Amino acid sequence: MSGPGLWNVASHHAIHDTACNEMAEILQMAQQAQIAERTEVFVQVVEVFLQVMELRVLVHAADEEQGLYQEWLKIKGDLQPVIDQLGEEHEALRHLSLDLESAIVARNSVRALAVMTRMVDAFSSHSGHEEEVLRSILPERSKRE
Ligand SMILES: [Zn+2]
Repeated sequence: MSGPGLWNVASHHAIHDTACNEMAEILQMAQQAQIAERTEVFVQVVEVFLQVMELRVLVHAADEEQGLYQEWLKIKGDLQPVIDQLGEEHEALRHLSLDLESAIVARNSVRALAVMTRMVDAFSSHSGHEEEVLRSILPERSKRE
């Protein structure tokens, strides 16, 4: 069972938006640290980025896969391909997190910045996609209540 917040378009959007803004801000800090050639600061900032990704995005994604998406399927069985697509988008974010970790281990700041930029873009477009599906299923859900 997912929290009622995930069913609410405004509060679900707020969760996405807060995470996305936070990631974009941290990305900017990383860009500044790289320009200033502050390597240690850069690594610390990327670690914060990874934590935000883990706690705000990947935990949220796992919740959705186990809760919200399953509830969607009960209401609308033909959503399976859409849910598979959303799950693949989550999977892509998990892969990007691993890429970012290896870029940091390799001390490759150019690659780290490129991966972080892709993560912000991928999360932002995934969120838009998911909110669109949520809006489409709300009328089906209220029919059943
Ligand atoms: Zn979501």
